[in-house]
Amino acid sequence: MSGVAGLSAEMREALAARVRFYRELGIGELYRRAVDDSRLAELGVVSSTLVEEKDISPRRSSVTQNVDAEPASHAGSQHRDLGRPAADVGQPVDKVEALRIIREEEIGECTRCALHTGRHTIVFADGSPDAHLMFVGEGPGADEDAQGLPFVGRAGQLLNNMIVAMGLKREEVYIANIVKCRPPGNRTPEPEEANTCVQFLNQQIEVVRPEVIVALGATAATYLLGQRQPLAGLRGRVHQFRGAKLIVTYHPAFLLRDPRQKKEAWADLQIAMKELGLKRPESGSSE
Ligand code: SF4
Repeated sequence: MSGVAGLSAEMREALAARVRFYRELGIGELYRRAVDDSRLAELGVVSSTLVEEKDISPRRSSVTQNVDAEPASHAGSQHRDLGRPAADVGQPVDKVEALRIIREEEIGECTRCALHTGRHTIVFADGSPDAHLMFVGEGPGADEDAQGLPFVGRAGQLLNNMIVAMGLKREEVYIANIVKCRPPGNRTPEPEEANTCVQFLNQQIEVVRPEVIVALGATAATYLLGQRQPLAGLRGRVHQFRGAKLIVTYHPAFLLRDPRQKKEAWADLQIAMKELGLKRPESGSSE
């Protein structure tokens, strides 16, 4: 039966409450398909929440990810200053609960892309839901797949050092990946895999609302910015992404292979520090 007419009153109210809760959180990407406003109207969710979402915020109006194509194009948006909508500031959000919903109810035991077949654990994220700084990598490796946490292997140790060099602790930042399941042999995620999974990362970003996002490597930059470009063309400047400043740098795994680039990565991190208002240490490096 189509629509919600066949649902019990209790179920209709539960669904309406759930949708209102998501709307209040500002989460707009929970639907793989376009939301049919008439169905929401049947649930009694129409009202100001929908009007508000259409009116106030480029950040809250969702960018539907294209699961079939190469990186979903947000072309044009990354150069606009989306800012942080005043209407969103101070909005009460239970971030821990919102992240739990994304992890347990949205992702669950996800089988939406082929990567689920080889994974041991879904690697959701690590760090503080209140973080001002978020790091986004490509996907879990063997250590991460085994432990269920991002960046816990050798590359993770280097990332920890980079964070400390910035004057922060790992627990103060938020760390996640473009895909949450380990690609076989640590290969680069296929476009269909990345475009399918990045919706969850975008939901996490909507909840955490970091001031600055550091994209670690070309895959993270590609699927956040929605454009495929050599890293050199994206580094060294501040991009705008969903109300956050986005800075692109090398993936720590690459820096382990080519330590000469650590100096360049440190220069990128100093851009992030400037945007965060962090004091530059007298001397520092990511060694
Ligand atoms: S990588 Fe993401 S979309 Fe694919 S199965 Fe894992 S959680 Fe689901």
